[in-house]
Amino acid sequence: MRDFSTQSARPDVAREELEFDVLFVGGGPANLAGLWHLLNLIEAHNLRTGSKKLEGLTIGLIEKADEIGDHAFSGAVLDPIALKELCPDFLKQGFPSEGVVSQEEVWLLTSERGGFKFPLVPPFLNNHGGHIVSLSRMVRWMAQQIEGREVPGVDVMLLPGFAGIKVLWDGERVVGVQTADKGVNPDGTPRSNFEPGNDLRAKVTIFGEGPRGHLARDLESVLNLQKDAPNPQVFEMGAKEIWEIPEGRVPDGFVLHSTGWPLRDGESGGSFVYKMSANHLAVGYVVSLDTADPFIDAHLALQQFKTHAKIKELLEGGKLIQYGGKALAIGGLTSMPKLAFAGGMLVGDSAQMVNAARLKGIHLGMKGGIQAAETILDALIEADYSEPSLMRYSQSYLESWAGEELRASRNFHGTVAHGLTPSAGLKLGISLLTNGWVPGDPQTFHSDAAATATTEAFYGKAGLHREDLDLGVKFDGKRLYPKLDDVYLAGVMHDEHQPGHLKIVGGDDLCVTCYATKGAPCTVFCPAQVYEMHPDAQGKVTRVEIAFSNCVHCKTCDIKCPEQNVIWTPPEGGGGPKYTLC
Ligand SMILES: Cc1cc2nc3c(=O)[nH]c(=O)nc-3n(C[C@H](O)[C@H](O)[C@H](O)COP(=O)(O)OP(=O)(O)OC[C@H]3O[C@@H](n4cnc5c(N)ncnc54)[C@H](O)[C@@H]3O)c2cc1C
Repeated sequence: MRDFSTQSARPDVAREELEFDVLFVGGGPANLAGLWHLLNLIEAHNLRTGSKKLEGLTIGLIEKADEIGDHAFSGAVLDPIALKELCPDFLKQGFPSEGVVSQEEVWLLTSERGGFKFPLVPPFLNNHGGHIVSLSRMVRWMAQQIEGREVPGVDVMLLPGFAGIKVLWDGERVVGVQTADKGVNPDGTPRSNFEPGNDLRAKVTIFGEGPRGHLARDLESVLNLQKDAPNPQVFEMGAKEIWEIPEGRVPDGFVLHSTGWPLRDGESGGSFVYKMSANHLAVGYVVSLDTADPFIDAHLALQQFKTHAKIKELLEGGKLIQYGGKALAIGGLTSMPKLAFAGGMLVGDSAQMVNAARLKGIHLGMKGGIQAAETILDALIEADYSEPSLMRYSQSYLESWAGEELRASRNFHGTVAHGLTPSAGLKLGISLLTNGWVPGDPQTFHSDAAATATTEAFYGKAGLHREDLDLGVKFDGKRLYPKLDDVYLAGVMHDEHQPGHLKIVGGDDLCVTCYATKGAPCTVFCPAQVYEMHPDAQGKVTRVEIAFSNCVHCKTCDIKCPEQNVIWTPPEGGGGPKYTLC
């Protein structure tokens, strides 16, 4: 078994054991919906006359951020379908909507000035009636709703500041997670404030770590969860800025999407512009990470996008107030791992529950949590946490509206993975008429484009470096910002006296070879400029320098490193970005 946990492997340390009936790992919308719905179900069950009461239950949720919401990052337009199931009067309960979508534009950009607006909004991008949200605000609200609940017979513990570092196993049965140690020196020795991580033992553990989960990868490696999926897990990367713009510039409820320029041939992705409350405007760009371009860089695409005449005029006289970046899962149904196993379940982006055509995963992840909760209730009543018992969740999810939506978009990524070419456009048209079918259904694709991507194949020249690229953008600190200026606005904080959480597993030599042969793409694609390769006094590059304290936890390096030489592990709990509007 491959052990991905590098921080908390001290066998000499006594660890406190805490027992849970149900443990949620990750405080994103998928798991919070799961916990919330489970409380609703237990309450209703215990009120039912004649039912065998569920009593003395302990349900926990851990989140690596200091506060739930600090690491939450999205676009976002929310399809409220799952939220309505969870809380039909969500608006009355103070849901932090930033506005209801009422005006939409979809553009195909052709150059810095050119492009055309689609006369009709394609059905999959029709967001009318959806809510513009800050995911960070939304999950804070969800956590408050849960904290405000008193469900007789249930003790609920929301535990921010605790990162799950290691899956606990009993043979091939998941029995909980270990949390990361705190107060460890870079060399692994304990400091005076050393706090060993705890062993959190649970009858059932729900993993909702978001895209490229650290523990989900461990689960996959042990249980081979991807075995029956036609496709590997694939990801996009998104960078976003929040701007304060002059009042009245953009109407409430305004939403814009575009594709085309500044993407290059063979690349796939697009922009989003969402009007938020208080004259805030979210401006973001997502790019596919399985493109053959080794240097694909969402931050750069975003800066280039802001030079377009249409966007320039929206931001004129405005002020940048927040920045962030994160990967998202885009494989959907054909990349979905097995959803349940003995003692555990996967929900949300960790299970690729995203409709890439709509750039939407919040409602699909929340539905994952809701269906998981239904199965957990039965498992608690029957005291059966075996794989067949928990697999009922997989069936009910796939039979729900969420499964239907994912089936209809199953071929989207395979179709547009390398750009909106004429043949991709034709297939997209066919899929709209056939509820998702295209010739060659299911479309298959590889995630190894990242590993095989070379500057020679993509730019026609071998061994290019960051310095050789024409960025086409002059950072002016007024509208266009270099990465380090932007990262400052992500509020990132890590205790620098801890072991670096970005592990170079194959050694620095591999990075040096990559620099010579592939141009060290990490120095380009990382949205926080964490990776640098500088020549020493003799003019030789001998190692990679990692400013891990800048890391925004987007996971791009773990996904896109061409040598697969970087493993992202959670730092000690509490470190990371501090998003409030993202
Ligand atoms: C740029 C961008 C734009 C998007 N736009 C939209 C949109 O408009 N509409 C939409 O519906 N969706 C959108 N999405 C997708 C959407 O944000 C995700 O599908 C959704 O957030 C997934 O929810 P989740 O709960 O699975 O994971 P996440 O939201 O990623 O939450 C996971 C949580 O788990 C925590 N965590 C991770 N690992 C650990 C660990 N080991 N221990 C403890 N805690 C851990 C993380 O800190 C995080 O808080 C967008 C995504 C991006 C990146």
